[in-house]
Amino acid sequence: MSFSNKKEVGFCPDCDSRIKLKSPRLGQKVTCHACGTVLEIIGTSPVELDWAFDEGLDFDELATKLEDKKDRNAQREEKDFDLF
Ligand SMILES: [Zn+2]
Repeated sequence: MSFSNKKEVGFCPDCDSRIKLKSPRLGQKVTCHACGTVLEIIGTSPVELDWAFDEGLDFDELATKLEDKKDRNAQREEKDFDLF
């Protein structure tokens, strides 16, 4: 047991892997090396990790909107084509 190494250790809530953090900050995003889950630091003493859902949801929403727009454009093009 040595305290000379100041690395903090958190645990992945998904697979319980140890995740070493050099300088954990609240809200920092880390990726679990074992399962690839994106986690957010929700506590620093002790280190607590939780799933970082926010970013993923925003991205999905954006992707869905973009796809909707693409679909609508495609439908309009088809309609235009039928007129000719
Ligand atoms: Zn994990």
